[in-house]
Amino acid sequence: MPQYNFLCRACEKEFSKILTISEHEKGGIICPHCKSKDIGRRWAAFYAVTSKKS
Ligand SMILES: [Zn+2]
Repeated sequence: MPQYNFLCRACEKEFSKILTISEHEKGGIICPHCKSKDIGRRWAAFYAVTSKKS
C-alpha cells in the first residue's frame, strides 16, 4: 500500500499517511498537528518500484 506525504498549508508541517485511493478521494485527510483540512499533496509516494531493466 502506498504511503503518501502531505504538507499542511495551515501549519506547514509535513506528515505521511497510508491510505487507499477511495479514502483519499473522500477528502478525509486532516492534519494531525492542527486538524486543518487544508492539506497539500506531495506525490513523492513511497512506491516500491523495482526496475529490472539494467
Ligand atoms: Zn497543520
